Amino acid sequence: MEISVIVPCYNEEASIKEFCNMMKDGFEKRKIKYELIFIDDGSTDDTFKLLKEEEKGNKSIKLISFSKNFGKEAAMYAGLSYASGKYISIMDADMQHTFDMLISMFDKLKEDETYDIVCSYKSSRVDEKPLKRVLTSTFYKLNNKVSDVKLLPGASDFRIFKSCVKDAILSITEKDRFLKGIFSWIGYNTIYVPYTPEKRLHGNSKWSLLKLIQYSLNGFISFNDLPLRFFFFSGIIIFIISLLNFILIGKLGVRTLILLISYLILMIGVISLYLSKIYNNSLNRPIYIIKEKVGFDRK
Ligand code: UDP
Ligand code: MG
Repeated sequence: MEISVIVPCYNEEASIKEFCNMMKDGFEKRKIKYELIFIDDGSTDDTFKLLKEEEKGNKSIKLISFSKNFGKEAAMYAGLSYASGKYISIMDADMQHTFDMLISMFDKLKEDETYDIVCSYKSSRVDEKPLKRVLTSTFYKLNNKVSDVKLLPGASDFRIFKSCVKDAILSITEKDRFLKGIFSWIGYNTIYVPYTPEKRLHGNSKWSLLKLIQYSLNGFISFNDLPLRFFFFSGIIIFIISLLNFILIGKLGVRTLILLISYLILMIGVISLYLSKIYNNSLNRPIYIIKEKVGFDRK
């Protein structure tokens, strides 16, 4: 098997047929042995029914359906666990990622043996709402300033990589996954290529602003304990200020009290974030639950 393509799907009934045709035509033209691993992430529409119909006519299609919606990160992790290709790719089902782009990334990867990962990044964000643009760029700036795990602004999950990279990702079994950060953390030689995603063929993006903020926050604390260390060192300074105030004036004073209370509230908020991360990881629950698998027993 040359290429495994992992495709997370959540309520994508309108795009399934077109996506399968695009991939089949493309791979057959290039005479590349491939498998398409679709992960139906608890869709409530006819996505899985349509995928099963496609699977009947194309022996390169394999299907996994989840017992409920576990999120794209879990779907990508499941797909990686079942991928057997020499090269692995992750693509969206909504036709925003094209076969032509995949092949140009594949050719780039094969161009030089030392490349391990080819990653596409959004070179322009003009199609996004101004608030989303500002929040995203603030997230990347802040993250890259304080975290050792650097992220290229606009880097997407649309990548192709060698199977050794897949093994490295699978060895990281943490919950609340943030694959962009994991890619950066594991290292390997990554080449970035710019791309402009096509317009979504049908439906809307599954990302609400709130989901995006939660996702970014999780990404930020997944690879960075600076906020915790900040409270340790700044706590010492606040303690000294309060003590001096008390010694010099004989009381704490309203301003110092307000400072202390605000500081404590903020600190509890930050500690709660990290605590919830520890809590989620300490529960021994699986990252996903599979309801049905189709096409994997085929020789
Ligand atoms: N997706 C998924 N589970 C989810 C949300 C999304 O598997 O809970 C899939 C979705 O079907 C699509 C891909 O992840 O194939 C990217 O989702 P979307 O297009 O909503 O994200 P965007 O392109 O806006 O980043
Ligand atoms: Mg999309």
